[in-house]
Amino acid sequence: MRYFSNKCVMAVDGNDGRWMIVGRKKAGELIVRWPPIAKVLERLLPYVQKVGNLSRNHHQFNRDMKSHSSFKRICPCMRSIFIARCSSNGISNDLNLDVPNKLIHSAKVIYCVSAAMGHNKEAHPESNKRVPAIVDALDRLELSPKYRSLQVYEIQTFQPASLDDIARVHSRSYITGLEKAMSRASDEGLIFIDGSGPTYATETTFQESLLAAGAGNFLVDAVVEASRINQDPPVGFALVRPPGHHAIPEGPMGFCVFGNIAVAARYAQNKYGLKRVLIIDFDVHHGNGTNDAFYDDPDIFFLSTHQAGSYPGTGSGEGTTLNLPLPGGAGDYTMRSVFDEIIAPSAQRFKPDIILVSAGYDAHALDPLASLQFTTGTYYMLASNIKQLAKELCGGRCVFFLEGGYNLQSLSNSVADTFRALLGEPSLAPQFDNPAMLYEEPLNKVKQAIERAKSIHSL
Ligand SMILES: [Zn+2]
Repeated sequence: MRYFSNKCVMAVDGNDGRWMIVGRKKAGELIVRWPPIAKVLERLLPYVQKVGNLSRNHHQFNRDMKSHSSFKRICPCMRSIFIARCSSNGISNDLNLDVPNKLIHSAKVIYCVSAAMGHNKEAHPESNKRVPAIVDALDRLELSPKYRSLQVYEIQTFQPASLDDIARVHSRSYITGLEKAMSRASDEGLIFIDGSGPTYATETTFQESLLAAGAGNFLVDAVVEASRINQDPPVGFALVRPPGHHAIPEGPMGFCVFGNIAVAARYAQNKYGLKRVLIIDFDVHHGNGTNDAFYDDPDIFFLSTHQAGSYPGTGSGEGTTLNLPLPGGAGDYTMRSVFDEIIAPSAQRFKPDIILVSAGYDAHALDPLASLQFTTGTYYMLASNIKQLAKELCGGRCVFFLEGGYNLQSLSNSVADTFRALLGEPSLAPQFDNPAMLYEEPLNKVKQAIERAKSIHSL
């Protein structure tokens, strides 16, 4: 993790919408809310120049940056990193870069936020309101680093995924085609890149999708490195969009642009030699993109639960991956059985080196896009049990990736309860779940579905 190179210093998101740019000019007011980097920056105070009080509107920010000739823009999203060219190479030599790493290694949950604010379509369920709603809930429910400085850590500095990272999953022709399509999106404001979702793109989609995948890769880095010195490393959570599990190797699909979790699986194998990757996908829809990327790969075990017959209609339960279609109305009772009878024994047999989770929150009873009946408590149970599996089987190495979830309230409360599970704290689900809104689960059909999967996979 490098914040500085010999010839560069960095701009920092001040968390409150203001930005502090570190340069070589005379000192200005230092506005940094992130304690570790603040410590580092105190030592740079003589070189600090305040560029301006900038709003969270990144277009405005970019305009301001462009007028400042010594800065080079490397990424257009709200939380991007801006690098200042600096003629001196002496600044970085005495910086203590260990402070953030120590905090990461000792935390229980680490997360990256990539809200893709420019990737948005009015009235579309996969909107740019989703990630901010989660971030607000973490704050409101006192689960953010502001309240949990030693347990919860937000990694604010990470790089977009490289094109080579993406190309381990997606074809080069798709990647370059999407990049080229950005100029058309810029002219037209919004284009459709896949009709079935429908999946849209704006002028920032390409860069913001690279950043979402980069966040996942960075969390893999952090979790793996922490697991080398800590038997109980933090669990990572990539609060990112666009989501990824429908994106197929040849193109986008179902609101998804790049397969963030698939890219991270290949990254973990390639960079760390973590050969066996278990991907658990509990989104209400079948993760057909992840399925397709690894269908013939015995080292990546893809286990998906989803509502039978829902989008995109794949995942009937055949093949080298384990697909478990659930009948409409299946809910908390069902998932507890599925965990005990399918997920845990499959994971124990597979013996993964790392567990990645496609965490979709659209199986919630309140979600508008499907008709399963998960509750906040179901997500708490899944997170708690998956964390325990990772501890038993793979040194605690585990990263969650946000996929679906379109009711902002049930989405944000359920992610917050996931954080509580990962922290080892009691669930607050009874505050959010109203049993009166649930109806009886179709237990006979559930039993048949579980028995069928057990029989296909000899469990
Ligand atoms: Zn979904």
